[in-house]
Amino acid sequence: MNNPQGFLTHTRQLPTLRPVEERVNDYNELYIELPVQQTVEQASRCMDCGVPFCHSGCPLGNIIPEFNEAVYEEDWRMAYQILSSTNNFPEFTGRICPAPCEAACVLGINQPPVAIEHIEKSIVEKAFELGYVRPQPPVNRTGKRVAVVGSGPAGLAAAAQLNRAGHTVTVYEKNTRIGGLLRYGIPDFKLEKWVIDRRLKVMEAEGVYFAVNAEVGGNVDAWKLVNEQDAVILAGGSSVPRDIPKPGRELKGIHFAMDFLEQNNKRVAGDQPGKDPEITAKGKKVIVIGGGDTGADCVGTSNRHGAVSVTQLEIMEMPPSERHPDNWPNWPMILRTSTSHEEGCERDWSVLTEAFVGNQAGEITAIRTVKIKWSTDELGNRRFAKIAGSEAEIECDLLLIAAGFTNPKLEGLLDNLGLELERNHIKTPQDSYQTSLGKVFTAGDMRRGASLVVWAISEGRECAREVDKYLMGTKASVLEGKQVGRGVLVAES
Ligand SMILES: Cc1cc2nc3c(=O)[nH]c(=O)nc-3n(C[C@H](O)[C@H](O)[C@H](O)COP(=O)(O)OP(=O)(O)OC[C@H]3O[C@@H](n4cnc5c(N)ncnc54)[C@H](O)[C@@H]3O)c2cc1C
Ligand code: SF4
Repeated sequence: MNNPQGFLTHTRQLPTLRPVEERVNDYNELYIELPVQQTVEQASRCMDCGVPFCHSGCPLGNIIPEFNEAVYEEDWRMAYQILSSTNNFPEFTGRICPAPCEAACVLGINQPPVAIEHIEKSIVEKAFELGYVRPQPPVNRTGKRVAVVGSGPAGLAAAAQLNRAGHTVTVYEKNTRIGGLLRYGIPDFKLEKWVIDRRLKVMEAEGVYFAVNAEVGGNVDAWKLVNEQDAVILAGGSSVPRDIPKPGRELKGIHFAMDFLEQNNKRVAGDQPGKDPEITAKGKKVIVIGGGDTGADCVGTSNRHGAVSVTQLEIMEMPPSERHPDNWPNWPMILRTSTSHEEGCERDWSVLTEAFVGNQAGEITAIRTVKIKWSTDELGNRRFAKIAGSEAEIECDLLLIAAGFTNPKLEGLLDNLGLELERNHIKTPQDSYQTSLGKVFTAGDMRRGASLVVWAISEGRECAREVDKYLMGTKASVLEGKQVGRGVLVAES
């Protein structure tokens, strides 16, 4: 800890946002970067705690106090070496992670936490700028072949790690571009897509192969692939959306959030958005059902289309605005106002959708709702009751369902292979990524259910380590890491 006064001298500071009236006219990222000196000051707020709770908050186990210290010393090479030893893609998490590390930061007990996510993004962007992010192809090839099915963050992390260990890796992606939900779910204003392309160039130069328009279990035979490869990793995500099967669901103008977002991301990229008619919010009264990340992304995108109004409804009750003091270091369930909400949106909670109302042309014109009251019964189960007299009808001509995802697509790949499932996701033993078909492994949302990018990267890395051990028959995988510098573990390359 080079500056013991840092947290006493400096307050938390984050990059400023572009003004709403400017940013709703484009899909560019929202932030104006901080000058380097201010990022260095932010790093100096880290107390280098004896027990750094930030580590336990991060699913990747990022070595946070060490990279904070390197940033304070403006040793960007060391900072990147430390950061990249646990995270293959800090340029993604540094932009879109909800930052559970910050929720667990010790400084957060009585002050705003260290700006870890911003520091992470600054490190990786500096590293690209200074030429520290170079392809690291393996010195030797093992002759083993691995297929990774799905090119989201889980598949990409697994591919990067296994290639580094010397295996020959091909990533199969059914879509026309690589990236999974990073590419087709998350809007450009949160993650511009050149950020993915820049990383893919590094991975290609390291020797990872990519096959697009290649659906395993569709136009690529699943069993042939399994038989030809030494190991296969299924990282196909969890894409089946939860529906709201209420009267009027068949009306025109009701869509799943991902149909809307995927089309939009394709249009922004200049790609053909597909055969389906364009879904636009322009000039419409939009209602988004579902209060999570996907719902917020629909809000931001609708405002950019030029919606007349945007309303977001959530069935759960409104969370408290303040964190309960006993909650630290856990993830706080508090009210979050995203940048998309700031751009214009009515929000309401404890709202149950009763029916969708339409006109003679079969188009949605309104939804019928009722307010509910939540309670907990003697067994601890959450229940709700409708509040009499709270029935309402809200005008609507575009309704977007963002109520989460129930499971991966079962037809095709999973049905073909006949893998054992649990809660409709691929079953693996606890702390293992191996499926009921020995040489087939799984990682990311397909295994754990819809989650976060940081968890997908973490699972991809852990899965790669297990596959490496499986292939090489050694107890310790080369992906276990080695000791360098300041006692930091860095994966061997
Ligand atoms: C709209 C939206 C916004 C989100 N925002 C955030 C956020 O801000 N921060 C955050 O941390 N998380 C966010 N998430 C969650 C995050 O994107 C996911 O948890 C993460 O992408 C999961 O990674 P994955 O690699 O497991 O799967 P995915 O990213 O879903 O990738 C799976 C890939 O596999 C491909 N595939 C599937 N089956 C096959 C097959 N048979 N053959 C070939 N390819 C196949 C799919 O086409 C897809 O490209 C968001 C999710 C959504 C939907
Ligand atoms: S918990 Fe916060 S203050 Fe402590 S080491 Fe981690 S980032 Fe620094």
